[in-house]
Amino acid sequence: MAVQTVASTTDSTVDLGPAAALSCRECGHRVPLGPVFACEECFGPLEIAYDFSAYDTEELRKRIEAGPANIWRYAPLLPVPADVATKPNINPGWTKLVKADNLARELGVTGGLYVKDDSGNPTHSFKDRVVAQAVEAARAFGYTTLSCSSTGNLAGAVGAAAARAGFRSCVFIPHDLEQGKVVMAAIYGGELVGIEGNYDDVNRFCSELIGDSAGEGWGFVNVNLRPYYAEGSKTLAYEICEQLGWEIPDQLVIPIASGSQLTKIDKGLQELIKLGLVEDKPYKIFGAQAEGCSPVSVAYKEGHDVVRPQKPNTIAKSLAIGNPADGPYVLDVARRTGGAVEDVTDEQVVDAIKLLARTEGIFAETAGGVTVGVTKKLIENGLIDPAKSVVVLNTGDGLKTLDAVAGTGLTATIRPNLESFREAGLA
Ligand SMILES: *Cc1c(COP(=O)(O)O)cnc(C)c1O
Ligand SMILES: [Zn+2]
Repeated sequence: MAVQTVASTTDSTVDLGPAAALSCRECGHRVPLGPVFACEECFGPLEIAYDFSAYDTEELRKRIEAGPANIWRYAPLLPVPADVATKPNINPGWTKLVKADNLARELGVTGGLYVKDDSGNPTHSFKDRVVAQAVEAARAFGYTTLSCSSTGNLAGAVGAAAARAGFRSCVFIPHDLEQGKVVMAAIYGGELVGIEGNYDDVNRFCSELIGDSAGEGWGFVNVNLRPYYAEGSKTLAYEICEQLGWEIPDQLVIPIASGSQLTKIDKGLQELIKLGLVEDKPYKIFGAQAEGCSPVSVAYKEGHDVVRPQKPNTIAKSLAIGNPADGPYVLDVARRTGGAVEDVTDEQVVDAIKLLARTEGIFAETAGGVTVGVTKKLIENGLIDPAKSVVVLNTGDGLKTLDAVAGTGLTATIRPNLESFREAGLA
């Protein structure tokens, strides 16, 4: 079998824009940019360290505002080459920030309620943002195959990105996902493999594959390219603030699967403050889980720093990670910002999907139901202040999780005449 060449981990010549090095989140140990994800000193997770020292605040703001209506307007703040927007990719981002006044009335929010609707991305979930970063890292490190362990949405995002950018893709999912997710992952022509097990089994399998010759030359977007991948979630923070007129909202409610998105939105907000693009002000970050997979919520409520793994059992399959890699960091962010982590039952998830649809005309997948449901609960608990602004994330499209709202359908079936219409009580 031919072994593909991959740039060595000490190759400092890769051009990933302002990304300067990888730095350990636990001990701060720095290594050159490369396809590595764990610290050689302490096994802690690595993340990107940047050099933003050359930026002038007002020049940077003008450059962003003049940029394309997608995530690449923020290329100067991402681990990508400066000419990224000219390369073949699916250009995610710059999704709508919907002022949700009807939902606000229903929930009693007077300080301004917004839904950041990421169902508007090319493959209908927020995952296009993170995959776009991983693709650039894969190009820089010479990979030819893209892969991932996925709860569904990631597999579709990798398939589409690989198709456009000219990579082979081979992705892994639990075998029993929703049909909408399976079709979305398969349609782009890559290889899709169902694993007999849950996401945590899929993830373990992928870790084994990386260490084996069978996975040689493969870029796993959420494993060996994870430090790069994760940075894509910062674009949600940037967009929300820019769409609010360069202002940080008072409160944000974010769903948790591995917890990466939540922690990187916080990182994005901190960067905007340091760069002077927004005024420094306190904000609270709230995490949302389904009760049937609530390891972070349970740890939060019990006051623990460690997250005890669970065996997931919920309709919110895109969030069904029982052993979330970023769980402890989510606890840090929620506690540091004065937020919280909460969970809702599957029944509340379905109610929340319907509530959002009937008030705002937005059809969310189960993950969006989790977030809206948790928002409602946190307002009732008094943990979210309804007199202050709230941004709620809808991270995926309801068309992918139709089973969750099965039974929603025809009001009546009638014969094609007025009499029948009247009989049905519709006149
Ligand atoms: C993956 C995913 C998330 C959150 O992912 P993290 O692993 O926590 O970054 C949220 N919503 C949807 C719909 C997803 O697919
Ligand atoms: Zn370390």
